[in-house]
Amino acid sequence: MVKYLSLKAYGKVNLGLDVLRRREDGYHEVRMVMQTVGLYDKIDLFWREKPGVTIETNLYYLPANESNLAYRAAALLLEEFGIQSGVHIRLKKFIPVAAGMAGGSSDAAAVLYGVSRMFGLGLSLEELQRRGARLGADVPYCVMRGTVLCEGIGEILTPLPPMPQCQVLIAKPLVSVSTKSVYEKLRVDALTPEQHPDIDGMVDAIRQRDLMGVAARMGNVLESVTASEHPEIGIIRQLMLDSGAVNAMMSGSGPTVFGLFTSPRLAASAYEKMRYGAGSQLVRQVYLTNLFNRKSI
Ligand code: ATP
Repeated sequence: MVKYLSLKAYGKVNLGLDVLRRREDGYHEVRMVMQTVGLYDKIDLFWREKPGVTIETNLYYLPANESNLAYRAAALLLEEFGIQSGVHIRLKKFIPVAAGMAGGSSDAAAVLYGVSRMFGLGLSLEELQRRGARLGADVPYCVMRGTVLCEGIGEILTPLPPMPQCQVLIAKPLVSVSTKSVYEKLRVDALTPEQHPDIDGMVDAIRQRDLMGVAARMGNVLESVTASEHPEIGIIRQLMLDSGAVNAMMSGSGPTVFGLFTSPRLAASAYEKMRYGAGSQLVRQVYLTNLFNRKSI
């Protein structure tokens, strides 16, 4: 038994996001290339004698109860394994919330891993992924991490070779958006063939370690939905391109925009512009980070 664990829950960006169709049950069939980035939430896990889960977070507007995905991840394992003691979770958020970076899913993945270790449950990553799928479509990916092709509703995972390293500028606009409402507004039937990103071409480029080939194929069918309501997304994207990004795009259902840079110098000056210059009126959070490609949590 381990009495204390400190965990990092990394965020992701979508290098490509395509939606194939809406299923009868309302879920959407997707093809996405996901990439973990170096921006993370900090999670402290404390063993406690009293059974059950308690949680505290640094953000007043996040639920500090069973609605929090981190709470639900811990409760799921404590219940399944009939554990007679409990855990306290201290969650410090850095990943923008409701922003298309899978922050909640990543917290859940880290807590699944942490609780398994704390109580010596010995669950493999595959076993954690299976349980994660019950908490949310992105949780299995957040257990796996790295560069991954996600299909089905996001739960069918094919690990890819690590994407070549580069700088990633992340900018979260002032607004937040709900993933559900963006998918509801998407008219899959109305998409033209050109609007679908070339996911197969991107996967080939990743296999060939061709960063520019990946950048050339970046695309997100959800961007038109979110960006039509929030034009600042397009402005931020253009600012990143003008600052020397090899490409820039909205992540997931947004509104976070990220840009890839192959020059640390250009990336640093783009960060300055976004933080203090032309972009500063449009964004709430700005981070300059890297790709994160270490596999196990
Ligand atoms: P995705 O990229 O998977 O669509 P997201 O960035 O849109 O994720 P999250 O930040 O994961 O969204 O959270 C969305 C909602 O889930 C928030 O509005 C919040 O109230 C709720 N939530 C529950 N647990 C958490 C958590 N640990 N961190 C962030 N949000 C959480």
